[in-house]
Order: sequence, then structure tokens, then C-alpha cells
Amino acid sequence: DMRSHQGSDYRLFEDCMRASSLERMDTEQLLRMALRQNWVKVKLQPIVDFERGEVSGYEALARIEHPTKGTISPGRFIPVAEETGLIRQLSDVVMAQAVALAADEGLKALHPTGFSLGVNLSALQLHDPALPDRIAALLEREGVEPSCFKLELTESAVMADPKSAIDIITRLRQLGMKVALDDFGTGYSSLAYLRQLPLDILKVDRSLVSGLDSHPDKYAILEMVLNLSAKLGLKVIVEGIETQEEFLQVLSLGGGFGQGFLFSKPVAPHELPEVHQRVKALFASMR
Ligand code: C2E
Ligand code: MG
Ligand code: MG
Ligand code: MG
Repeated sequence: DMRSHQGSDYRLFEDCMRASSLERMDTEQLLRMALRQNWVKVKLQPIVDFERGEVSGYEALARIEHPTKGTISPGRFIPVAEETGLIRQLSDVVMAQAVALAADEGLKALHPTGFSLGVNLSALQLHDPALPDRIAALLEREGVEPSCFKLELTESAVMADPKSAIDIITRLRQLGMKVALDDFGTGYSSLAYLRQLPLDILKVDRSLVSGLDSHPDKYAILEMVLNLSAKLGLKVIVEGIETQEEFLQVLSLGGGFGQGFLFSKPVAPHELPEVHQRVKALFASMR
């Protein structure tokens, strides 16, 4: 009958709630433990300069390297870090590792003309007006040129609080750092609004790239985004390039920089010399 049916629905609902809050608690414990035990590790994903045909920089991406559970991805722990406020501590750890990598002699040896390094900022960090000066102090201490350092803010974080975002972006740039709008194309910012944001770089989200060769609508949107960016003086990094076909389409549209599994997954720093060789070989094979 009706009542027992409702009862079982409710139990199902309760079970789901319990499961998801258990998982959340689980992740929170894991994150606290990871921060205590230094299990948070930054991996680097290369960003490729199409004109030069080589790796010109990296994005620093956080992982938890658990001794028995293996690697835990940021998609799982970043939302929990934000909910619990642990994001502040996590970001400090990521930032310290990223700045150390920007100053790393081995990495510098791979890049005679320098390289850029990008770090993601979470929405919460837009409410920390002292952040840009803290990062600048860290860079200075390690002897890293600020113009080689790039902060990535997602479109949705910026749109959630444009006023704070603009203040932070402006300060970061005053201090000589670069600012990228991340995941562009997934949020709701109007194209007109882009003009008002003092940005250096636009990172086009993977959703506009996957299957580019078989979706004329995506091709048209990407074309428009690239044209507009050129007019606004923004550099563009096209994210999530996985196949040769997607790469060729992006090239044909005049895209300047790319990031994606075709070139390399995020890797540990010691794997980079090999990745550089592979990227060079990929470009050589296309000539
Ligand atoms: P994101 O900043 O947009 O980073 C790019 C994500 O796309 C990375 O996932 C990367 O591994 C993935 N990716 C790159 N190329 C490809 C591709 O060709 N195909 C596919 N399927 N995926 C590709 P990841 O490392 O899992 O990070 C996910 C998100 O977590 C990041 O998206 C970023 O928003 C957040 N995140 C990662 N590290 C940090 C951090 O230290 N702080 C903060 N606040 N957020 C972080
Ligand atoms: Mg990013
Ligand atoms: Mg992105
Ligand atoms: Mg993303």
C-alpha cells in the first residue's frame, strides 16, 4: 500500500544520506591525516606552446598519495577541503611545493628560456585579501620571478563574487603575477563580462574540446572564443586535448597553447625529461 511504499522510499533516502555523509566524513579524516603525514603531493601537467612545439610551462595539481589506498584525486578532496575550511592549510602546502618546483634547478635546466607554473585558487581564497602579498613574499624568498607564476581561478568562483575576485586579480597582477580564468565555457559569465576582468590567460574547458572534430557547434564556439581572446589580448590555453584529431582542429583555429592527455598526464617532476622528448617527437612527426 501507499504508506509502506513511502516508508521504503524514505528508508532509501536515509540510506543515501548516510552513505554520502559517511563518505564525506571519511574524506575529511583522510584529508586531515594526509596533511599531518605529508601525503599531499603536487603533480605537474605540461602546457605546450604550439608555435615553439615544446613544453613551455606546467599546471600544479594536488593529489593525496595514500600509502595503501593509492592516489586520491582532487575531485574528491577539494570539495571537502572547501566545506571544512581545510582548504587554507591544503593550499599552503600546494603553494609551498609549487614555488619550490618553480625554483627547482633540475626543472630550470630543462628550460633554458624559463617556464611558467600555474596553481589553482579555490573560491574561498578570493575572500583572503592578504593572499597575493603572501604568495609574492614566498616567491621572493625562493628567488622566483613573479611573472613566471600564474594563478588559476575558475569562471564560477569569479562569478560567485566578482568584486572580491577583481580585487584579488588586480593585486596579483600589480605584484607581477599572471592570472588565468579556468574552466572557461562551463559557467555563466557573459562574454561581455570578460572585458571587465583584468586577466592574462583564458583556459578553455575540456567540454568544448572533447569530440571537437565531430561537433561543428563546438568548433564554432571555440573559433569565436579564440577570436575574441585575440581581440582582448588574452592568451588562450585549450584544456583536455586527448586525441590527434582534436589537436589538429585546435591548431587549425590558431590556438596558441594546449594541455591534455595527448601531450601528457600530470606527472611527478622526475618524469619530465621523458615527457619533453615525447612532446618534441610529436611535433617533429607532424612536420
Ligand atoms: P583544473 O584546474 O581544470 O585542472 C585540469 C584537470 O583536467 C586536471 O584534473 C587534469 O588532470 C585534467 N585533465 C587534463 N588534461 C586532460 C585530458 O586530456 N582529459 C581529461 N579527461 N582530463 C584532463 P585533476 O588533477 O583531477 O584536477 C581536477 C580539478 O581539481 C582541477 O581542475 C582543479 O579545479 C582542482 N584542483 C586540483 N588541484 C588543486 C589545488 O591545488 N587547489 C585547488 N583549489 N583546486 C585544485
Ligand atoms: Mg586549473
Ligand atoms: Mg580547467
Ligand atoms: Mg577543470
